[in-house]
This record gives sequence, C-alpha cells and structure tokens, in this order.
Amino acid sequence: MGTPVIAGNWKMHKTPQEGRTFARQLSTKALNLPEVDFILFPSATGLHSIHEALVDTAIEMGGQNMHHEQSGAFTGENSAEMLVACGCQWVLIGHSERRHVFAEPADSRPLKVATALGAGLKVMLCVGELLEQRDQGRTQEVLREQLSNDLGQLQRFPVESVVIAYEPVWAIGTGVVATTQQAGEAHGMVRGVLRDLYPDDDLGAVKVLYGGSVKSSNAAELIGTPGIDGFLIGGASLELDEFVNIAEIAKQELRSA
Ligand code: PEP
Repeated sequence: MGTPVIAGNWKMHKTPQEGRTFARQLSTKALNLPEVDFILFPSATGLHSIHEALVDTAIEMGGQNMHHEQSGAFTGENSAEMLVACGCQWVLIGHSERRHVFAEPADSRPLKVATALGAGLKVMLCVGELLEQRDQGRTQEVLREQLSNDLGQLQRFPVESVVIAYEPVWAIGTGVVATTQQAGEAHGMVRGVLRDLYPDDDLGAVKVLYGGSVKSSNAAELIGTPGIDGFLIGGASLELDEFVNIAEIAKQELRSA
C-alpha cells in the first residue's frame, strides 16, 4: 500500500461555517500526518468557504456529485466547471445514495466520469452490492456491471485520476462493517474486473478504498487487509477527533507493514 487515502463524505451535514471550522482544525492536525492523503467531500454550499480554509494545505476537496452536462436547464445541479471554480480537485461519482436513494440513471455515470476527467477533476467512483445481491452470490457480477458501465467511456484506466471506493450498501451508515475477509475478497474482485477491462494497462498503482461503517475501532483490521488503500468515511468523518484517529491508525499500519 502507498500513502493511505482518508476521505470524509459529509453527505448533507455541516453548514459552510461548521465545515470551515472543521477544515481549519483538520489542517493543523494534518501537519503531523504528512503520510496520509486527506480528502473532504462537503455539500456544495460549503465548498467555497472550505476551500478558503484549505488553501496552502495538502488537504484536497471534492464535490459529492455533479451533472454530466456543462451547463443548462438542470435546476439544483452543479457542473464540473463549477466544482473546479470552488476549488475542488475531486468529485464523488456513483455513491450508493445517488444510485439507490435518488435512482440516478446508470447511463449518466459514464458521462459524468468522462466530463469530470475532461474538466481536470479526479474521480472517486463508488461501487458496491446490496445485501440481497450479496446473499444471492452476485457481488462479483454487480461490481463488474457497475465498473464496466461507469468506466465505459474510458479507453485506458487513468490510474492517477480515478480511485475506486468499494462500499457495500448494507454497510453504509448501518454500523455493520464488512469482515476483513469480505472486504479483501471484494477488493480482489474490483482489481480483477479492472484487469479484465484494461488488460494492456499497468494497474499496479490503482487505489481501492473501503467504505461502510468505518470507525477507529475497526480501522486497524481493515487497513491491514491486503488490497485496501484507505477509507471513504461517512458518519465517523463528521467528528474531527474520530476522523483524525482513523488517519493515525492508517498511518501506523502503513509504518508497520
Ligand atoms: C459513505 O457515506 O460513503 C459511508 C461509507 O458512510 P458510513 O461511513 O457512515 O457508513
């Protein structure tokens, strides 16, 4: 594993003021954690002021979603260009809440990925199976379907610009975390699918994160699992000390690996 990625998805939490205070405090604490790559995904309303708090720090920021068109009559949406203008380096695409709560059309995702990369954003693409799909033994099939659909416009896999977050839907916000065996197997499946999709590419440096009820109490086991390069964290990213504790744990594991 290279530098662990510790990403916080704040979902619909934190006002811009709360986010800015958190970002300022995190940037102080992150000075002691140069071996960790932090990324914050605040709501769109907070991006501008949080960016101001992160200028001159190594902490990166991303939008939680975007529209694939560059502009137009899409009330309530944000474009890639708008995210870039607010200081984003990243965008989350395909989070399970976009897929399952908002029933985002599957055919929008490859367009979003292509538009984001074209605008200079890095993409964190979330994939993961529902509990019923796991119970039916369909996890690999679902991951293959999601990855091949969502990356469908890319001729080559841009290792520097796309990170995959494996997030089993049944583990998101439920307090139920994947076992290290389940997470390890699924990460192997993600890498296997990418190898099938991009047989000519060198995928050695691809980062695959785990997400789903990560906390400081389960982070050590998970980060010690081969194939897990960091975490996408929802609930536990809202509390500064807990978020930083998880990063400390990831750093320790990296040192002892
Ligand atoms: C998420 O929203 O991506 C997530 C993993 O949430 P939580 O950590 O709360 O399960």
